[in-house]
Amino acid sequence: MGASMGGSMDWMDRDSIINLLSLQESEDIEELRSRACKVMEKYVGNSVYYRGIIEFSNICSRDCLYCGIRKSSTGVHQRYMLSEEEIADYARWCAQAGYGSIILQSGERRDREFIQFTENVVKRIKKETRSDLLPDGLGITLGIGEQTEDDYQRLYDAGAHRYLLRIETTHEKLFAAIHPEDQKLSERMLALDKLKKIGFQTGTGVMIGLPGQTIEMLADDIRFFKSFDIDMVGMGPYIVHPHAPMAHLGMLEKKPLMQLALKMIAVTRLVLKDVNIAATTALQALYPDGREQGLSFGANVTMPNATPNAVRKYYQLYADKPCINENSNDCRSCLLRRVEATGRSVKFNCWGDAPHALGKTESIV
Ligand code: SAH
Repeated sequence: MGASMGGSMDWMDRDSIINLLSLQESEDIEELRSRACKVMEKYVGNSVYYRGIIEFSNICSRDCLYCGIRKSSTGVHQRYMLSEEEIADYARWCAQAGYGSIILQSGERRDREFIQFTENVVKRIKKETRSDLLPDGLGITLGIGEQTEDDYQRLYDAGAHRYLLRIETTHEKLFAAIHPEDQKLSERMLALDKLKKIGFQTGTGVMIGLPGQTIEMLADDIRFFKSFDIDMVGMGPYIVHPHAPMAHLGMLEKKPLMQLALKMIAVTRLVLKDVNIAATTALQALYPDGREQGLSFGANVTMPNATPNAVRKYYQLYADKPCINENSNDCRSCLLRRVEATGRSVKFNCWGDAPHALGKTESIV
């Protein structure tokens, strides 16, 4: 592999990306891992940043064919929406635990009541989490799907400064195969455009190992992240949910799926360099140490679950979601142990923005 990892390599070259994603020999994969870590250390440092994730509602108006909480799912025993008070309580808990940043994630709703609610929650959290350590309060990322430009603007003005909207796949036909007809790849791209234009630090990502997905498609996904000038990447393995319509198509075997997901993280790090990359929870659904493995392949962010224990079991996007019987305190100590076992340390009480995003802000100012 030596030649293909050479310094003069053009990281946007499609064939090179395909070659790296196709590596199978454990020595080659180890070399890829070690290169990705060096690039990570050089461009974003060795620290790991936390985003406490609060899954505040599983009510969804969309019907994505892979998702366990889709509108028509018969597998969700209870639909819930946390109250403003509860979300603020858990956000304050995150701030006190030193998390620095949170992600508020939910099913997608576009009604006025939901947008108003989310706007109020964001404002309240910003106000209630200011401290000497965090003078501007918690950093807030939103993951509430496709919204209008006006609504994105409202949420940005309320104080959320990052937004995560996965493109899921950039391949037109595959996107169409995994979504109902009213969901279009072009609209998702437009939504990402709006987020960037407003000034959100913008994150995207894909599911890895989707039925019908090829290495070439994944290579194009990475090229999309780069050409779209994305600030953050959150991607993870596709895992069947037994009640989702795509369940009968099956999924990849655990081992090759994990390997592919780790290669995606490493190659994304090599190509994009100074962005934040998450070691996502779905990695841990495959292997108990999945998130640690993600970190060791070049990820620098991870998401301790800070959703109230009582509702965790109702927010299952895929089968075997980890940590649903734990509470936020369990997740805090467990994840810290896991991160430290990799020889890295967590940077507490800071937002942990990606240098890539900060570079843009500085050049604007
Ligand atoms: N409604 C929000 C949050 C969706 S859930 C939004 O639209 O952004 C967050 C992510 O979970 C999705 O973007 C998708 O990539 C992932 N996801 C959903 N079902 C999954 C499955 N079966 N396996 C793996 N990841 C899944």
